[in-house]
Amino acid sequence: MTAGGRLPDLTADVLVVGAGPTGLAAAVELRRLGIEGVLVVDREREAGGVPRHCAHTGYGVRDLRRLMTGPAYARHYAAVAAAAGAEIKCRTTVTSIGHRPGPAGSPGTLQATLTSPAGMHTVRAEAVLLATGCRERPRSARLVPGDRPVGVMTTGELQQRVYLAGEQLAGPALIVGAEHVSFSALLTLAHARAEVIALVTERARHESFGAFRLAAAVRWRTPVWASTAVSRVIGRDRLSAVELRELPTGVTRRVACETLVFTGNWIPDHELARLSGASLDRGTRGPAVDTALRTSVPRLFAAGNLVHPAETADVAALGGRHVARTIAAALRGGAPGASSGVPLLVAEPLAWISPGMISADLVAPPRGRFVVRGTDLRLAEIEIRQANRSLGRARVRLAPGRSSNIGARAGPADCQVAASQPHERRAVNLCRVHDVEALGTGRLRDDSRLGEAGRSRRSAGASGHDQLCHL
Ligand SMILES: Cc1cc2nc3c(=O)[nH]c(=O)nc-3n(C[C@H](O)[C@H](O)[C@H](O)COP(=O)(O)OP(=O)(O)OC[C@H]3O[C@@H](n4cnc5c(N)ncnc54)[C@H](O)[C@@H]3O)c2cc1C
Repeated sequence: MTAGGRLPDLTADVLVVGAGPTGLAAAVELRRLGIEGVLVVDREREAGGVPRHCAHTGYGVRDLRRLMTGPAYARHYAAVAAAAGAEIKCRTTVTSIGHRPGPAGSPGTLQATLTSPAGMHTVRAEAVLLATGCRERPRSARLVPGDRPVGVMTTGELQQRVYLAGEQLAGPALIVGAEHVSFSALLTLAHARAEVIALVTERARHESFGAFRLAAAVRWRTPVWASTAVSRVIGRDRLSAVELRELPTGVTRRVACETLVFTGNWIPDHELARLSGASLDRGTRGPAVDTALRTSVPRLFAAGNLVHPAETADVAALGGRHVARTIAAALRGGAPGASSGVPLLVAEPLAWISPGMISADLVAPPRGRFVVRGTDLRLAEIEIRQANRSLGRARVRLAPGRSSNIGARAGPADCQVAASQPHERRAVNLCRVHDVEALGTGRLRDDSRLGEAGRSRRSAGASGHDQLCHL
């Protein structure tokens, strides 16, 4: 076979697209569960995903119960997956996925096209896991006016340049955003010898841990300029300055800088999901999945940051383990493996919930929790409604750049009923009841328990809520 030509067709029990923490953790679990042919492909030169170029520590706490740097974490998963017997092909991009229906009652097969420097393959698989992650919205997609000079990048690009290519970026720098990843950008810029002037956010305050904010202020003397927008990028060839606008007053000022890093504002890498015909979730913009992480296409699954843009790597890896169990069960039981059930709909101030559907078999969501994001910074009491019934309430701290969890025991008890009784299969709505108090003054656990909290209060009636959604 000549380089770049057509290569022999392949078969796999499970094809995993993406060798980041999600895909590798899924591959390890699939092998542990006795699934034979597990093929993992990634377009990058090496397996490991984003952590490969994130040299600071902060990885592995929930899944591996230890604290590691990104590259060590990536190497660990790649080595364990290979040792478990998964085949890993790098520099291989999946360009399409299609579903071939089988005889009536059978789930059919999935077929994917793989492209690598050696040529093109077709892979037939019993199941496919999409674990393609997410990326930050670049400056071009944020519609920031001004020039197009060199020196403007996302955190992902910054980390590849600094940690993989060893670039130095001495000179003043500004970071746009003040969520977890923005503080990671601060560490990377400090490592690259840049002088970070500030983190700039349009929000009223930062969205990360207080400890990160404190460390930035004490260790690097870097302030957070809140309620401030980047209104113009200035520089002929190289970036020379940025114009900032204070949102409350409209006053603008120029700040000289040579590096501008846009952080957060994530978009799932959902192209393959779209090409395969899977339904997309309007909130996350990733494929719509139920609690077992099944998409609407039979035997096509999705997990990790593709379905919750973006969580930490350990949360993504635990999602990978979770979906591996669903896939193994579907392969063993011959189940169709497509989602079918009750969608969970959200209204402002909730931006999205993941997973966004409960199927009739009532599989618990990954880690027994639903992940929610807000459109705004606030503490709110959320009511869960179906038709005219209140199923429960939960208190959550909401932020656009940081998730909270709503606990579920195999799905909230009432939602189980809602999903399992066909005549009851109507969308479940999550809507704000009222703001609890100004964010920052309250001390609520992020992990609100939907079940108990809801039941104890439900008897008191649903008074005082501004009902944002109706069925
Ligand atoms: C700057 C930064 C700092 C971070 N810091 C931390 C931290 O300190 N601690 C922490 O826990 N988490 C951190 N994270 C988050 C963590 O990196 C992610 O949660 C994790 O990488 C998500 O794993 P994933 O497998 O879902 O996606 P990814 O790691 O993004 O992996 C997806 C993989 O899919 C591949 N792919 C995509 N499309 C295709 C295709 N069509 N064909 C083949 N391959 C494809 C990509 O090449 C990639 O390797 C950070 C993230 C960033 C960006």
